[in-house]
Amino acid sequence: MDKARILIIDDDPSMRKTLSDILMIKGYDIVAAASGEEGLALLNGNAVNVALVDLGLPDISGLELLEKIKAGHPAVEAIVLTGDATLDSAVTATQKGAFSYLLKPYDIDQLLLQVRRAMEKQEAEVQIHRRNEELQSSNTELKTLQDISQAISRTLDMDELLSGVLSVMAGSGIFPFEIKGGIFLVEQGRVRLASYISVSESVLKPCQEVFSGKCLCGHAVVNGEIVVSKNSHEDPRHFNCHPDTDPHGHVVVPLKAVQEVVGLLSLYTQPGIEVNEGMLRLLSAIGTQVGIAINNARLYEQTKSSSLHDPLTGLANRRFLQMQMEKSFDAAKRYGEKLSIIMLDIDHFKKYNDTRGHLEGDKLLAKVAEVLVKELRNADYVFRYGGEEFLCMLPETDLPMAADVAERLRHAVETETDVPISLGVSSFHEEVADKESLIKMADGALYRAKQNGRNRVEVAEG
Ligand code: GH3
Ligand code: MG
Ligand code: MG
Repeated sequence: MDKARILIIDDDPSMRKTLSDILMIKGYDIVAAASGEEGLALLNGNAVNVALVDLGLPDISGLELLEKIKAGHPAVEAIVLTGDATLDSAVTATQKGAFSYLLKPYDIDQLLLQVRRAMEKQEAEVQIHRRNEELQSSNTELKTLQDISQAISRTLDMDELLSGVLSVMAGSGIFPFEIKGGIFLVEQGRVRLASYISVSESVLKPCQEVFSGKCLCGHAVVNGEIVVSKNSHEDPRHFNCHPDTDPHGHVVVPLKAVQEVVGLLSLYTQPGIEVNEGMLRLLSAIGTQVGIAINNARLYEQTKSSSLHDPLTGLANRRFLQMQMEKSFDAAKRYGEKLSIIMLDIDHFKKYNDTRGHLEGDKLLAKVAEVLVKELRNADYVFRYGGEEFLCMLPETDLPMAADVAERLRHAVETETDVPISLGVSSFHEEVADKESLIKMADGALYRAKQNGRNRVEVAEG
């Protein structure tokens, strides 16, 4: 135990002197006061551990003094000394928070023992207090990790996932800095801003230009370790700073899936930021948690996209069409909503392939897809139905409107590619039993368009 400081409050000078001498010899630091007022004044500014308080002081009753000591300095342990105490006043003193009492004339060994015990109690309380604080903070840390894990498990959508993480962190209140910054995703050795909070996009965007190894984010990517930078204007690693920003600090947390850095959490802090061990541990746990979630969201996006999209044109494929048709056809049937379909096929595509080569044929397919997407509304769908056949699905569109759209598509493709297409149009009505029938009707119309000379639109009958 460190050298302890004892305050003696006693109006009897010889008593003060004797007590001081004895305790000093025993290695304590001593401050002494002749009155209650003086004693209270000495408590401020002197780190007193134990106060020895005479109950019979001239200026203030011993019990009142005791109350004031405990009120202003609850950690100070008081031992009451009294010459004429009855058992009652001693009991009152301990009820008011005194550690113990001693009757004058006191036994010196007894006094020293009481002082030691008071010190032990004080030390134990400090420990309990510290432990309590530790428990409380690890509790909030666990709570934050749990909240983040919940935000993560609610979604596989990347945008939702990242903004969820940022807002949970911002709401947690446990970080020694405001949650202000963004999440960057690492893609082919570069970083891309994917989500941000409390700071404008224009401040964060320039960081995207950082290559691996450069600036703070680059360090975090290469080393896979948290980077703490206390001052933007003094840290030589930090050169990609927005010119208008005031001096600030940074905390950059790599988001890791297994050993790979898949993203970065880059935060702005006040300058001179200190991040302690516990906080680093928490940030690192968050980094791993979010990194794995990013990986999962990516895998999900990839599988979803590769199983439902055609790689050549980027359009949704036939499997996607089945799913989407199911929904749209149901809505049409149940609520009588309008729904039309355009089937289209490139004219003499085989010849195009044969004369220009398969690669040029592929390019034409991609170009036709692009024109179709550009010409249609956001609410419409375009699918690659087969080799050089496309299917457009137009919700909220009746047959005459769809026929107009088809003609517009024919014209646009011809203008932009110099290649003619044939189109067949069908629309849902009460007698159309199922989605297959609707597609069959459009296919029949397309067949007629081919029969009738190609480069034209035909509409399903009935
Ligand atoms: P029509 O006017 O009657 O539609 O004649 P067409 O030559 O366009 O029709 P056909 O069905 O005889 O030929 C379609 C061609 O499309 C044959 C096939 O090799 C080609 N094709 C299908 N898929 C692809 C593809 O992904 N890339 C390329 N380059 N060609 C493809
Ligand atoms: Mg064709
Ligand atoms: Mg064909």
